[in-house]
Amino acid sequence: MSDMYICGRCGRTFEYDERVVEDGFAYCPYCDDDEIEEAALCVDCDEWFDKKVLYGMDGNCRCRACLEKRATVDQAIELGKLDGCDPIKVSGFFSEFFSAEKIQEILLREARKEFSEEKIKRLANEYCMSDEYFFADELSA
Ligand SMILES: [Zn+2]
Ligand SMILES: [Zn+2]
Repeated sequence: MSDMYICGRCGRTFEYDERVVEDGFAYCPYCDDDEIEEAALCVDCDEWFDKKVLYGMDGNCRCRACLEKRATVDQAIELGKLDGCDPIKVSGFFSEFFSAEKIQEILLREARKEFSEEKIKRLANEYCMSDEYFFADELSA
C-alpha cells in the first residue's frame, strides 16, 4: 500500500499521488489546505491519524483513546513484570508456599479489599500511561 496522508484541516485521508502540487507545495485534494501530514492507522479503532500523534511501532500503533482503553489492571500487572520496572521485594521464603502467580493473585485480592475497583482501575491506567511510549511498544497487535 502506498503512503497515506491526512489533512490537518478537514481530516480526510488520501494517497501521496492524490495530493495537489503547486509551485513545489503540496495541498489537500479536498480542501486545498497545506497542513497535510503522513497518516497511519490505529490498529484498534481502524481510523487514520496524523502519524505523529500515534503511539507504538509502525504497523502496531494506537491512538491515545485506544491506548487508554488498553491500560487495564491485567495490562498493568503484565507491564509491571517487565525488566526496568521496580519489583517489590518479597521474601523468598514465601516461594515455599506459593508460586509467583499465586502471590500476585493474593496481592490483587487484598488490593480489592482495601481499595475501590474504581481506584484500582485508575491506578492501573496511571501506571500504564506513565510511560505511554514504552507501554504502546509492549502491546502486541
Ligand atoms: Zn483537507
Ligand atoms: Zn484508536
